[in-house]
Amino acid sequence: MTVMLGVPEVRAAHRAVPGGSASSGASSRPAVPGLLDTFGRTATDLRISLTDRCNLRCTYCMPAEGLPFQPPSTLMQRDEIVRLARLATEALGVRQVRFTGGEPLLRKDLVEIIRDVAALDARPEISLTTNAIGLSGRATALAEAGLDRVNVSLDTICPETFAIITRRPFLERVLKGIDALGLAGIRHTKINAVLLPGINDTHGPDLLEWALAGGHQLRFIEQMALDADHVWDRAAMITAEQIRERLSERFELTPDAAPRDGAPAELYRVKRRGASVDDPELGTVGIIASVTEAFCDDCRRTRLTAEGGVRSCLFSHTETDLLGPMRAGAGDDEIADLWRQAMWAKPAGHEMNLIGFQQPDRPMSAIGG
Ligand code: SAM
Ligand code: SF4
Repeated sequence: MTVMLGVPEVRAAHRAVPGGSASSGASSRPAVPGLLDTFGRTATDLRISLTDRCNLRCTYCMPAEGLPFQPPSTLMQRDEIVRLARLATEALGVRQVRFTGGEPLLRKDLVEIIRDVAALDARPEISLTTNAIGLSGRATALAEAGLDRVNVSLDTICPETFAIITRRPFLERVLKGIDALGLAGIRHTKINAVLLPGINDTHGPDLLEWALAGGHQLRFIEQMALDADHVWDRAAMITAEQIRERLSERFELTPDAAPRDGAPAELYRVKRRGASVDDPELGTVGIIASVTEAFCDDCRRTRLTAEGGVRSCLFSHTETDLLGPMRAGAGDDEIADLWRQAMWAKPAGHEMNLIGFQQPDRPMSAIGG
């Protein structure tokens, strides 16, 4: 039996599926082209992990050492990635493709992959989630290849704390990478930050100050149970509520009225605390409350691991291999159908708020965030 911990349950809205029933069996799946699931959600946002390797070791994601990496021969090659992106956009209704990892900038062929995906007939919006290390030398080439938007992960602007969280002293390189994006003409860069108790949980206002000054949208992500060390603690994590409280000491946050439209972040318009009504807003800040205010009922994401496995949810315990069948000669229709079937079985939501929740074996770096 599952027991609630006294926090909001995942809102799993069962919606009517046209022509289908709420069973996960292949036979009851309606013959629609898109990536529909039994709860009536359709995935249009694809996250492709390009590698499980990384040059940082963020404590909430990777272990200090000892994580075995996938052998290179098991990773999707450029043509395989592009074929799956083509199928996703042309046959399955995907409109946005985000490259992630591990650290996607570690892929030497990243520029070429982006160029190929940008040349697809049903060109998706193309974005990248990165730690920005090494970005300064590649931002222009990536922009020219067709990269539309970038999210950079940065949890603090204090060099010492950065080195504690990432276990590497590379803050300057990250800041250089962010600056290079603007120079390359890539605008609207978002900054992703995870706050950790006793480490950077008091850094939120300074980080927001820095992001607003640079014209970036900062988004705080609640820490999820996806760390390789399996030490995530539901009771100790910094919640969206605590983040709002701490930011409110320096800023006034007003919920943004624009429809969220499946976006993970709840947006707030930001003014300095005590500013007059005539003072302009400073920008917006986002809070991604994946744990305490879960948004699974409007999830539009489908994921491919670097080895070409479909994960219908970050917290899936199963994957559907597409790379094996592709390498064995499967045709486009067969691959597309395997993908549809994998998404049809998407669970209602993660169960991080329930006793009995089982953390996936793979850490975030090996899934693709
Ligand atoms: N290496 C790149 C980066 O850090 O941006 C891309 C991959 S990383 C896994 C993608 C995102 O996942 C980052 O924004 C990171 O902060 C976030 N992330 C990693 N582990 C997390 C966790 N346990 N809880 C919440 N977010 C996490
Ligand atoms: Fe690497 Fe990104 Fe994970 Fe940090 S969050 S260890 S940068 S994959």
